[in-house]
Amino acid sequence: MDYFPLFADLKGRPVLVVGAGGVALRKIRLLLKCGALIRIAADKLHPHIRSLHEAGRVEWAARAFSPELLDTAFLAVAATNDADLNEQVFQAAQQRRLLVNTVDDPARCNFIFPSIIDRHPIQIAISSGGQAPVLARLLREKLEALLPQGLGVMAGIAGRWRGRVKAKLVSTAQRRRFWEKLFTSAAFQRLADSRRSREAERLVRRQLAGDWPQTGEVALVGAGPGDAGLLTLKGLQRIQEADVVLYDALVSEQVLELVRRDADKICVGKRANGGSVPQEETNRLLVRYALAGKRVVRLKGGDPFVFGRGGEELEALREAGVPFEVVPGITAALGAAAYAGIPLTHRDHAHSAMFIPGQRKIDADAPDWQALAQSRQTLVVYMGTIKAAELARELIAHGRAADTPAAVVSCGTLPGQQVFSGSLSELPGLAEKAPLPALLIIGETAALHHRLGWFGEQPALSADRSGWYVQPAAGADKPAVRVA
Ligand code: SAH
Repeated sequence: MDYFPLFADLKGRPVLVVGAGGVALRKIRLLLKCGALIRIAADKLHPHIRSLHEAGRVEWAARAFSPELLDTAFLAVAATNDADLNEQVFQAAQQRRLLVNTVDDPARCNFIFPSIIDRHPIQIAISSGGQAPVLARLLREKLEALLPQGLGVMAGIAGRWRGRVKAKLVSTAQRRRFWEKLFTSAAFQRLADSRRSREAERLVRRQLAGDWPQTGEVALVGAGPGDAGLLTLKGLQRIQEADVVLYDALVSEQVLELVRRDADKICVGKRANGGSVPQEETNRLLVRYALAGKRVVRLKGGDPFVFGRGGEELEALREAGVPFEVVPGITAALGAAAYAGIPLTHRDHAHSAMFIPGQRKIDADAPDWQALAQSRQTLVVYMGTIKAAELARELIAHGRAADTPAAVVSCGTLPGQQVFSGSLSELPGLAEKAPLPALLIIGETAALHHRLGWFGEQPALSADRSGWYVQPAAGADKPAVRVA
């Protein structure tokens, strides 16, 4: 260990900062956060430091460094771009046995500034011992993303309740169990994450009174369309905390890889081979695991509320009195359109977008074909490949031009993504070629795939079979899509 990590109380303690440029500003801002008294020795001040000085938040002690300035200091920071001056500050501080940091000069530091994660009162400091500050910063960003948002709230509550818990639970082991149970409770974490401190404290009170609710809870989490990078931060946290994960066949391997290794993973997907878990059985499983006190994640492809039957599952949980939350995901239409370079709306080509299912309940009314066949709107059809012929026929019969651009995006956002594009009259043929899962996109903007497609194979810019897409003339700044 090259450096010993310490957390220093600098409240009201003088810190001498020599130099007042951009580098000094960063250190000053950090030190001000913990209440240090900043004294500056510099001939001129960075404009932001000047504002701090004018606001009375820092003291401009001297125009030039002199060793006596260190006599009243608790720490020193040498932040000038003059190596000789930095050396003087370092030597003078050494003589006085003061801790000194010379910015960007590890050999002249006897303390260093770590990368800091601040979830007050929790603080995490990361250091590479001055060897690789950028690596330390990247590590900090990774940790920031993984740590629950409510960490600070949890610690604050623990601080407020420590005395009462100690008075009630006499043995250390009892207290340890109490806190462990509280901090790992999904309900407590959820309340802390959403800053509902008062309700969270109510839970602490109940637990201390021995009235701890036994129920686990369910998070209905949208897994996105496939690329694990499209999971939300909250979705990632939930699947990493889960004891049990019930997932659909649509959830990608990449996302399942992120589930905690020792969690139970149960596939409740509706599979193409006919083998599927009926919805009622899924509902029953969710309730059963939650009532057994487990943290359950119901992981669904895309977004749980978009053609996902998420609403039905929540009804079952509500009836059983199981607490739940919903973490939205990127629905297939948004993911596939973005990765295929097909803007769903576009000032020149489409003023609205509509998401519809290709499959309908047997007793459902016929769709409003007139509305669906409007031009200048993008129609996205989920579960639509089998019905592509009927869809194209009806849309054309109700007035949509047969040469309206159309695309089928297969395995959107995944490494195997393919985009089959052509015109509405060609849609059945395109859909037939497309491996599942696939989305149909019909509308003027589908043509833009040829220019804006960026993921996987870059499509050629040249005209395609339908004659809809033309290469822009050199220097042309207008979109190259011709609209009928
Ligand atoms: N809740 C999901 C939709 C479930 S319906 C969501 O919000 O995305 C299932 C349909 O979604 C599939 O039949 C297919 O049309 C579409 N789909 C899901 N993932 C897809 C993907 N990666 N690429 C293309 N289509 C996808």
